[in-house]
Amino acid sequence: MIAEVIINRNAKNLNRTFDYHIPTKWEDVISVGTKVLIPFGRQKELEEGFVVALKEKSEFPTKDIAKLEECLQEEQIKLARWMAKRYFCQVSECIKLMQTPGTRNKKSENRIGDKTIQVVYLAKSKEEINLLIETEKIKSPKHQRILNFVADNEGCTISEIEMFTEGSRAVVNTLIKHEYLELVEQKIERDPLKNKQVEKSTKYSLTEEQKKAFEAIQKASKENRFEEFLLFGITGSGKTEIYLQTIEEVIQKGKTAIVLVPEISLTPQIIERFIARFGKESIAVLHSKLSIGERHDEWIKIKEGKAKIVIGARSAIFAPIQNLGIIIIDEEHDSSYQSESSPKYQAKEIARKLAKQNQIPLVLGSATPDLTTYQNALNKQTTLLTLSQRANQAHLPKVEIIDLKQELAEGNHSMLSRELYQSIEQNINDKNQTILFLNRRGFSTFIMCRDCGYTVKCKNCNISMTYHRKENKLKCHYCGQESPVVTICPECGSQKIRYFGTGTQKLEEEIHKQFPSASTIRMDIDTVSKKNSHEKILSDFQEKQMDILIGTQMVVKGHHFPKVTLVGVIAADSSLGIDDYRANERTFQILTQVAGRAGREALPGKVIIQTYNPDHFSIQAAQKQDYQTFFETEIALRNQLKYPPFCDIIVIGISSSEEEKNQKIGNWIYQKLLNLLPKSEYAIFKPMPAPIDKIQNRYRWRIILKGNMNQQTNEQLNKLMEIITQKNQKDIRVTIDVNPNYMN
Ligand code: ADP
Ligand code: ZN
Ligand code: ZN
Repeated sequence: MIAEVIINRNAKNLNRTFDYHIPTKWEDVISVGTKVLIPFGRQKELEEGFVVALKEKSEFPTKDIAKLEECLQEEQIKLARWMAKRYFCQVSECIKLMQTPGTRNKKSENRIGDKTIQVVYLAKSKEEINLLIETEKIKSPKHQRILNFVADNEGCTISEIEMFTEGSRAVVNTLIKHEYLELVEQKIERDPLKNKQVEKSTKYSLTEEQKKAFEAIQKASKENRFEEFLLFGITGSGKTEIYLQTIEEVIQKGKTAIVLVPEISLTPQIIERFIARFGKESIAVLHSKLSIGERHDEWIKIKEGKAKIVIGARSAIFAPIQNLGIIIIDEEHDSSYQSESSPKYQAKEIARKLAKQNQIPLVLGSATPDLTTYQNALNKQTTLLTLSQRANQAHLPKVEIIDLKQELAEGNHSMLSRELYQSIEQNINDKNQTILFLNRRGFSTFIMCRDCGYTVKCKNCNISMTYHRKENKLKCHYCGQESPVVTICPECGSQKIRYFGTGTQKLEEEIHKQFPSASTIRMDIDTVSKKNSHEKILSDFQEKQMDILIGTQMVVKGHHFPKVTLVGVIAADSSLGIDDYRANERTFQILTQVAGRAGREALPGKVIIQTYNPDHFSIQAAQKQDYQTFFETEIALRNQLKYPPFCDIIVIGISSSEEEKNQKIGNWIYQKLLNLLPKSEYAIFKPMPAPIDKIQNRYRWRIILKGNMNQQTNEQLNKLMEIITQKNQKDIRVTIDVNPNYMN
């Protein structure tokens, strides 16, 4: 028997299979998915690889497989191969996502996963030790301190001793030698849920709307068939309660569940709700903040079938769970479900594939569904389940829009409108909490007229143009159109053209100036870095009853703060100004989510949105929490301008250390594309530098295609990639991205 093997290493020229002979003794054990060690080329060390297919004969001379390792399932290998084609990446990159984190690699024999630590115990009884101290048989104060510490904290580590007693490892060793202390090897069960003490919760009796949704999902689940649902309900309408009850049914059937949530909303609050219902033994949590060891342990817990529910960010979709009964994707519109580094997969797509394969329901939940998802629901590809009311009868907050142009006209140049200022002051006096939101994501500064709200847009694309400081020009990132910098507003003649770039840091400073007595806490990428610090900011805000939480979009996702009664949006326009066809959609989504943070329980909420574009439909619709109107306006625009969901935006990226090389291969690819793709179906834009045209000393160019990424085009582009790889110098990298998250 011959095995086709993929080498587990990310080199472009290894993105193909190699034939190996299977020794007779392993013929029954090796299957598709087996990880093997093989001799490769002339190198001494064995290479790691995965068997992706079996066959009788090879047309090449073959070597023997040398060793066997862990095994993936055949399905996973199939999925990895499909992904490689779909997302234009390497099979081995995809397989990595499915392997147990932290397992042995070929260089080191240690498993990072099965870690043990040395912990310290008393070698004699407490009484004996006490006696020795009292009778001054143990005289040294240092020794006494350490022994007392260990007596109170048996099972502590040496570093803890060092930290709390100023003792050193050497002193501990001396005490061990005297047989006062002993070292014990202990396997550590790293458990990310360790500190969670959660009271058990019982299920609510569902509202009429909830019941309808629940039963529809139930039906598909009972009939063991694939069906995709969009659970469309405002924040607080009881979506999570439906997830919980649906999962309960699934588990009673002996099946399992995957729940995806955006990385950022993987907060203790959401995890606790699951633990409260199901107990922590049956739950595995996967996200990027876990240490490699923790991830390893969670993975094993899933593999061994102990965990029935996997809650995690994007990559949890690859968890090795058996007997899957349902997949739930909360906040399905969230951009974090699409990976921004290779393999650039879309978790929703993978989920759909898995759900079909397993014949189970897929539930997408959102208050502001992705435009494409909602379009699918209208086309009946997806079943629409609507929750129109808040489940606990809390009222929707009152949303006010403040026109910042008016503020300026009346002499207020501060970041805070008078209305927002007064509301914050009032809230501080009432001892209620406030969240201030300022979206700073994205690097391109956009420019806008402060008098009329005009922003410069490309004539061809109806997309905000970006200021390029180096050349002092405005550019369209889609078609390459350039125009000079505007100093006088073409709409109203004003000279108050401003560059926007205020961040949360500046806002916090401003708040301290205006409200010296207020306590504030800031949450953005700069303050959230260390493990758990995201959790810590949120729990500090809640437990210490801080007055004001200031932050970027991190503050708007999924948290539930009963005492927050005021939410202020400092500049709603910052997301309108981004150079992306999704600018309106992102603005609407984020404002609607922000508004959902206020007044979630008994206390009524108030939301103040500051903007230079009070009449913009995204802002107006967000004020009324009116998805329908937003959708209708935006989908018409997308249709007119041919943007997703009416076509795909395919970005072919080229990078190298020399600009001329990019240009040369760019032109070559461009000509190929003109020949390959039917002109009537694809708009192909000439190669040109990317908006960020140099990163880490590599020049970046790109070609943009607008059209449908169908099977045939996918195959043609994959073939093209193969040719490029073959004729390629090492220095040049070519990538293909379909509807990337950010057009940079
Ligand atoms: P969502 O996930 O849509 O934001 P949640 O499921 O978190 O909504 O529900 C919002 C609040 O309403 C929560 O505090 C939840 O416990 C409560 N809730 C949900 N369903 C019900 C129900 N049927 N009866 C009473 N309270 C409910
Ligand atoms: Zn103007
Ligand atoms: Zn353009």
